Amino acid sequence: MGHPIGSMHRVRVVAVSEQFSGSRQLTTACLIAGKSLNMAEAKMVIIFDFDRTLIDDDSDRWVVENMGLTHLFNQLRPALPWNALMDRMMEELHSQGKTVEQIAECLKHVPLHPQTISAIESAHALGCDLKVLSDANQFYIETILKHHGLYRCFSEIITNPTTVDGEGRLRIFPYHDLASFHGCNLCPPNLCKGLVIEQIQASMSEKGKSRFIYLGDGRGDYCPTLKLDRGDHVMPRKGFPLWDRLLSNPSLLKADCHEWSNGEELASILLKLVEKVCKE
Ligand SMILES: [Mg+2]
Ligand SMILES: [Zn+2]
Repeated sequence: MGHPIGSMHRVRVVAVSEQFSGSRQLTTACLIAGKSLNMAEAKMVIIFDFDRTLIDDDSDRWVVENMGLTHLFNQLRPALPWNALMDRMMEELHSQGKTVEQIAECLKHVPLHPQTISAIESAHALGCDLKVLSDANQFYIETILKHHGLYRCFSEIITNPTTVDGEGRLRIFPYHDLASFHGCNLCPPNLCKGLVIEQIQASMSEKGKSRFIYLGDGRGDYCPTLKLDRGDHVMPRKGFPLWDRLLSNPSLLKADCHEWSNGEELASILLKLVEKVCKE
């Protein structure tokens, strides 16, 4: 199977229309406001970072720690960029005879906060356009989202692509072509999330005005946050690097900022913001 190195790679998820019965009080709030969002309008775009945002843990570290790779990881960490290091970790698992199914099994144990799950389901049921934008990888994210029944809620998963090669080894590749540097010094060479946000903004602006909510925690989430406009919202995880950077120079940020610490706060703040937009 060919790998799209040298191309901007997006994993498109086919939206399946389905009845959702559990969106509870938020749907009511939006209906009271006399307005329910639908996909045709798609005015509200919610972008989730994955590690330590959508999931409480870090999927790369989860696999390293739970599949006995900690020693090799620590040895190679200074020598390799993160993305290449994770591909190297997969090579190691393959050489030990560990299968892709075993990696998937390990990923299925990554905990997801129940409130985060219901917030995602509610936002999707209300017609928000949900996307994941992550420096993890396609295989990890898809495995975890499918396991929790959330894959159907996302229109796009934008991340480092993966393939399983002819020998059954999971390969992890950079999102951007490394031969042509994206030019952003805030981001790692394999993924500038700000560049991706600009592309999403451009594609959305053809369909009319949209509002963005961006949720993240890490250094790589700073660049995309700065691309947000007035009227957009950023939800940095309190005490994590994105939050630190935003606090150190708040005047650079045009979007409104709402901090959160755990799945419960993530859910209540996110749904309040969606409700607010419903009423506008
Ligand atoms: Mg993260
Ligand atoms: Zn960047």
